[in-house]
Amino acid sequence: MKVLVVGGTGYIGRRIVKASLAQGHTSYVLLRPETTYDVDKLQMVLGFKEQGAILIEGSFSDHSSLLNAVKQVDVVICTMSGTCSQNLTLQLKLVDAIKEAGNVKRFLPSEFGMDPSRMGHALEPGRDIFDKKMIVRKAIEDAGIPFTYVSANCFGSFFAGNLSQMGPFIPSREKVCLYGDGSVKAIYLDEEDVATYTMKTIDDPRTLNKTIYLRPQQNIISQKELVGMWEKLIGKELKKSSITAEDFLASMKEMDYYGQVVVSHLYHIFFEGCLANFEIGKGGEEASKLYPEVRYTRMNEYLRRYV
Ligand code: NDP
Repeated sequence: MKVLVVGGTGYIGRRIVKASLAQGHTSYVLLRPETTYDVDKLQMVLGFKEQGAILIEGSFSDHSSLLNAVKQVDVVICTMSGTCSQNLTLQLKLVDAIKEAGNVKRFLPSEFGMDPSRMGHALEPGRDIFDKKMIVRKAIEDAGIPFTYVSANCFGSFFAGNLSQMGPFIPSREKVCLYGDGSVKAIYLDEEDVATYTMKTIDDPRTLNKTIYLRPQQNIISQKELVGMWEKLIGKELKKSSITAEDFLASMKEMDYYGQVVVSHLYHIFFEGCLANFEIGKGGEEASKLYPEVRYTRMNEYLRRYV
């Protein structure tokens, strides 16, 4: 397939470019004239080229450049940043270009988290991201564009490496605060596996117009189980405290906007159990069942890198 990655310089996007190349697709990476390059980003982009990716220029403020880019490919994967939710609705411009081009066989918009269609009740301000993702979904479906939505649950480095705490992205060797009794099931993924599963879906008829949930069985674990894996690796028991849902939500008051977004998302994951508390219905499939050949990383292996 010919695959265009929009947002290929980003955190999950660069892994998707790598997986696309590894799975033998002709891989295009959209580069924006507005992008600011530091030396790392520049070297990464040059590395893509060296590995065979085709760099193509296009801007969200230039419709013809987006149209030109999408006309060259079969599949478009957008991994646009979700940090600023306004970016997510910029994807409407991409939807317009894909609709006009008419040749794209599959579009994967920037999702890769909780399923936004299940988050209509979510707390503000975190809910804004889900609402924006739903606006993009509606535009895709109204335009009749073939799609796959990837619900990737918790990226390991954001949620496992820190034992699901707020704050630094490294696990403490001393203490941990559990959400409630820490027993609510979450789902953790190695980001490389997110990219591998994502690329497997792009030409699979079973994933057409569906949401694909990444729920590898062994990675459906509670915060307490995750902490237990870390304790085993370091051979030491952590000092544990616990926070109630009420106190956790109250902590939002002292935080900036970004902190509040994180608290509201963590609340839904670790108190409500929104990742694993539902059966996958008719419009969905589970990735590790579709692709049992992928040897996904278990979280005890994932945590080994932090020892
Ligand atoms: P990043 O923040 O790493 O950024 C991705 C890309 O966004 C970059 O390539 C950047 O391009 C592009 N971008 C930023 N601003 C603009 C703009 N104004 N116009 C066009 N492009 C822009 O993204 P992530 O990988 O963190 O997030 C991707 C998706 O994954 C999001 O939907 C997010 O919600 C989700 N996510 C899920 C997580 C999970 O645990 N499940 C964790 C984190 C994210 P450039 O280099 O040109 O600036």
